[in-house]
Amino acid sequence: MAGLSCAVQCAKAGLAVAIYEASPRAGGRCRSFLDEGLGCLIDNGSHMLLGANDATKNYLEEIGSRDLVSEVAPATFPFLEPATNTQWQIKPGSPYFPLWLLTPGRRVPGTNPIDYARAFRLSRAKANQSVGEVIGREDPLYENLWQPICRAVLNTDADEASASLLWKVIKLSFLKGEAACRPMIFENGLSPALVTPALEYLKEKNVEIRYQARLRGIRWQDDMALAMRFPEGLLRIENDDALVLAVPPDNCAELWPDSDPPSETLPIVNVHFRVNEPVKLPGGQSFLGLIGTDSQWIFSRGNVLSITISAASDHVDKPNWELANHLWSEVTKILGRNMGRLPPWRVIKERRATIAQTPSVLASRPGPKTSLNNLFIAGDWTNTGLPATIEGSIQSGRRAARLAIRRTSKATEES
Ligand SMILES: Cc1cc2nc3c(=O)[nH]c(=O)nc-3n(C[C@H](O)[C@H](O)[C@H](O)COP(=O)(O)OP(=O)(O)OC[C@H]3O[C@@H](n4cnc5c(N)ncnc54)[C@H](O)[C@@H]3O)c2cc1C
Repeated sequence: MAGLSCAVQCAKAGLAVAIYEASPRAGGRCRSFLDEGLGCLIDNGSHMLLGANDATKNYLEEIGSRDLVSEVAPATFPFLEPATNTQWQIKPGSPYFPLWLLTPGRRVPGTNPIDYARAFRLSRAKANQSVGEVIGREDPLYENLWQPICRAVLNTDADEASASLLWKVIKLSFLKGEAACRPMIFENGLSPALVTPALEYLKEKNVEIRYQARLRGIRWQDDMALAMRFPEGLLRIENDDALVLAVPPDNCAELWPDSDPPSETLPIVNVHFRVNEPVKLPGGQSFLGLIGTDSQWIFSRGNVLSITISAASDHVDKPNWELANHLWSEVTKILGRNMGRLPPWRVIKERRATIAQTPSVLASRPGPKTSLNNLFIAGDWTNTGLPATIEGSIQSGRRAARLAIRRTSKATEES
């Protein structure tokens, strides 16, 4: 996403752009593919946007696919606690007149408005504090609200997740009102909305895209990158060129160790089940948050039911068959025994799904500039001030594009 959004901005500004992608296809950690076992298109993992994700919305407008992402309005997040069979919906409203908090049906059962006011403690959190330390693990909303939000948005358990980053999320969503909290869903999958239209846009702008082109190193001298090293040989970087590294942190550490990227990452596990017919989830949405089970979210799209486990360190090393069997048994308890025996399944383990969004890891996020005048860095893990999400990577790609455009026009003026 960072690389594509950077390329879209640079091509729009009239720059000649070339993309070198290590894998055989575009999309990185955010992609769809045809799964032959299941016989349909699936995403590497279910993704959701929020109404507050303006840079992503702009990107979708630019590449012409805004209508491929649907918005749940009014904002509604359905939850179920299977052990007690309790269902509820979080329905955020105005931040100025939070009458919604006075309506029991829009809150977690058994909580009162004062419990939510304790979120303001996060605004005073120190940079080194976790959500667990600031909110307190005994808080009545801890397991039923803060924990699922931390796992879903920060891919990190609340015990370790950065309190100040969670506060940033609250400021950009709950405190902006209902529209900023709307869940946005990729009904046709990730690549049809985020990747394929971008590739078509770039093709129209004559952008060159090379797949299976893994950058192995950068040659540099003084304050300039001079060449890119590929297995086939060196590719010269002209004086008025700019190079943007939009790769994950571990790859960046190999290519440009000076950037000192964060090394601690956390996994996300997704299990997709091919069911006989579309399934209606309790709560009436195409997604459902679960409390007290290993399954954290269920997404229903066509004939595919997908289960997400974020911050999945305890699960990622389990055998695939065990995960599929265990999560299917949870699903059948929730949706009814008539769901039948284990259907065809696919387990996708993204072992380095995102950086761990803990205070210490976040402190080591580098900015987009490097010590070289023509080398810039982009990616969800860079210091965007946002969680490592699609929105963060798109913003970082745009930021790198602005620097690259400035660099190339400055170099052209000087020559
Ligand atoms: C399972 C899962 C669920 C998620 N859920 C959500 C969600 O609900 N909402 C949300 O907003 N975000 C979510 N995210 C996060 C989101 O997917 C990422 O933040 C985003 O895709 C990161 O994009 P990126 O461009 O920064 O990095 P990447 O997608 O990792 O892209 C880096 C690219 O660089 C290429 N590359 C690496 N090394 C080289 C090299 N040496 N030479 C050339 N190319 C190279 C890679 O092949 C890749 O294409 C989720 C992530 C995962 C894995």
